[in-house]
Amino acid sequence: MSEQKTSVLVVEDDAAVRNLITTALSSHGYEWTSATTGAEAIVAINASLPNIVLLDLGLPDIDGQNVITKVRAWSQVPIIVVSARSDDLDKIQALDAGADDYLSKPFSVGELLARIRTAERHLSYQVREEPREVTFSNGDLYIDYVAGVVQLAGEDLHLTPKEFRLLCLLARNVGRVLTHQFLLREAWEGAQEGDLASLRVFMGTLRKKIGSRYIQTHVGVGYRMVRV
Ligand code: CA
Repeated sequence: MSEQKTSVLVVEDDAAVRNLITTALSSHGYEWTSATTGAEAIVAINASLPNIVLLDLGLPDIDGQNVITKVRAWSQVPIIVVSARSDDLDKIQALDAGADDYLSKPFSVGELLARIRTAERHLSYQVREEPREVTFSNGDLYIDYVAGVVQLAGEDLHLTPKEFRLLCLLARNVGRVLTHQFLLREAWEGAQEGDLASLRVFMGTLRKKIGSRYIQTHVGVGYRMVRV
């Protein structure tokens, strides 16, 4: 990252959690602002243009999910949702609404900072790449979306059409956790609905071909391509 400090908007109505997060951010060189309601969050994102948003899903006014939907209408700022709720459904709905990542309460400062670093890594590429690039590079992995070519360290890889679709979805959304539902909907378009078991099989063969370091598994939630 450049010399400029990364700014984080912390949206959290619980003062104790908010203090924990903002103290950790201050002591690790981040700038931050905070909001305690969804309405405040939307105004703050618009007004102060933070680099990253940490969004609690359980807010006193509007649901965090609604905040994501509203913000995504005009901003691609990375959103990390923070949820106290133990069931995966909230996180999955938030990811499908356009969140990039999630953090489950209770979390450690180490986990929090790791998620923020992941978002920062994504940011540093975002400014350089157009959203609809024709080619994609990540470590040894190279994709030409239009020509349908995938290479690993300069060697052509032979992917099935389904594997190629999945890889393109992950690459186009690099840094974001994509839910099982999203991948099934996008890669198995039309009448032939995919199921979770076949998604796992395709993801397994894809990882064998490209190597396991590019794709993270989020148990019960989905998959993410990481920058290596
Ligand atoms: Ca809350």
